Amino acid sequence: MKYECDAFAGASSRTSRPTGRRRLRIDGRYLDDRLPEPASAIRIASDHGISSILPAAFYQLALLSTDADWDAYRANPGKHLRFGARTARWRLLDKRDLMRLVHGQKLLAAHTRAIGTDIFGLRCQRNMKGCTKARNDCWKYFQENAPNSMDDPLDILYDCMRLDTLFTDLPCTACTAEITIVAEKKRRELWRSLPAVFNLQ
Ligand SMILES: [Zn+2]
Repeated sequence: MKYECDAFAGASSRTSRPTGRRRLRIDGRYLDDRLPEPASAIRIASDHGISSILPAAFYQLALLSTDADWDAYRANPGKHLRFGARTARWRLLDKRDLMRLVHGQKLLAAHTRAIGTDIFGLRCQRNMKGCTKARNDCWKYFQENAPNSMDDPLDILYDCMRLDTLFTDLPCTACTAEITIVAEKKRRELWRSLPAVFNLQ
């Protein structure tokens, strides 16, 4: 399934995988200059009633540290932008936007934790030896090797749909297929619930 949010959420987060090498500069432009700046997008969307882009823009913001300031990073681009950092113009956000952001970040963290129990905590239906350990190892990998992605449940769920490209020690085929199906469903549901996650309704 193709998501409207991919231009926003996927484009940045998917490249944060430690397993993949991102192209940091294309046509001499930093990643941050090639994607929409989320705070400006929120301001424009709010001022002109284009609410459809708000969920993806808030999701993108939720992945960023408030230290990642658009202007500050451009004062010294070599330090962060060169390594693919994403930034926002935080000062464009009003108090209501910030409240929505905090609310959303809490709920997204809960979604990430739920992946551990609802996907990797499931029992093997075939009772195959080793599946529990393989599932635990996969989840441990996400927690230990992709700390940035732990803020990004859509990205983790995307990776759960292609575990075979990330790991060699996989659970059995039935488990792997189940993980793909559950992850796809959860990803679709999470994307659809973003307006509620960020109190946009
Ligand atoms: Zn299994």
